Amino acid sequence: MQQSNFYHACHLTRHKVHSRDRPFTCPVCGKGFSARSSVRIHQLTISVLMILLLM
Ligand SMILES: [Zn+2]
Repeated sequence: MQQSNFYHACHLTRHKVHSRDRPFTCPVCGKGFSARSSVRIHQLTISVLMILLLM
């Protein structure tokens, strides 16, 4: 189950994040960002990693 392992690791990277300073959150792992563009970059990174893991 590489997919679930990835989600777990992604969540653990920023488990204790203060949402008030980072109003934009990733819908996948809940990681917070101070800018919407940062969320998009993060999600693109996830997509690439998912493809690499599933290959
Ligand atoms: Zn995420």
